[in-house]
Amino acid sequence: MTGMLTTDDGWTGTVLVCDGCGRTRRTSATGMFAWDLLWEQADHAGWTGSGRPPGPHHCGTCASSE
Ligand SMILES: [Zn+2]
Repeated sequence: MTGMLTTDDGWTGTVLVCDGCGRTRRTSATGMFAWDLLWEQADHAGWTGSGRPPGPHHCGTCASSE
């Protein structure tokens, strides 16, 4: 699951959540460009799954345990 969000303390950005363990990666930017950058960084870190925001996405730890 991924989404653009605003927290109670006013933080806005884009967050990538592992569907396996809930680990997150986030950036303060929003929009599809922010998503593409976030996913590219996650991909280099070993994440697998869909390259689109709806997912599913799995972090390197979950991907290597499958
Ligand atoms: Zn995980």
